[in-house]
Amino acid sequence: MTDTTSDAGSYLDFGCPRCGHAARDEYETLDPMSPTNWRCDRCARMFNVLLFECATCATETVFVAMIAAEQPPPVDLLCPSCHRGVLDHEEVADSF
Ligand SMILES: [Zn+2]
Ligand SMILES: [Zn+2]
Repeated sequence: MTDTTSDAGSYLDFGCPRCGHAARDEYETLDPMSPTNWRCDRCARMFNVLLFECATCATETVFVAMIAAEQPPPVDLLCPSCHRGVLDHEEVADSF
């Protein structure tokens, strides 16, 4: 029997960009809006994980990159749930 349903629950799943191994933030060590270095359990190499919480719908999204400098700028990130920018719109478009 397989009870490995892809139930996200309160955990955040992401994959190692080097070997594809699935990782999970079981201990909720990721800080939102802060690039965090993560060591892969399988290949033992470091990669970078960036957690965003959408300012509109509060969906949490994880972006992975080889290093922190390769993470996209926050203003370019779109929420996969509501397709709006993950940043607070008051901060991004303050001109109206
Ligand atoms: Zn790996
Ligand atoms: Zn959203």
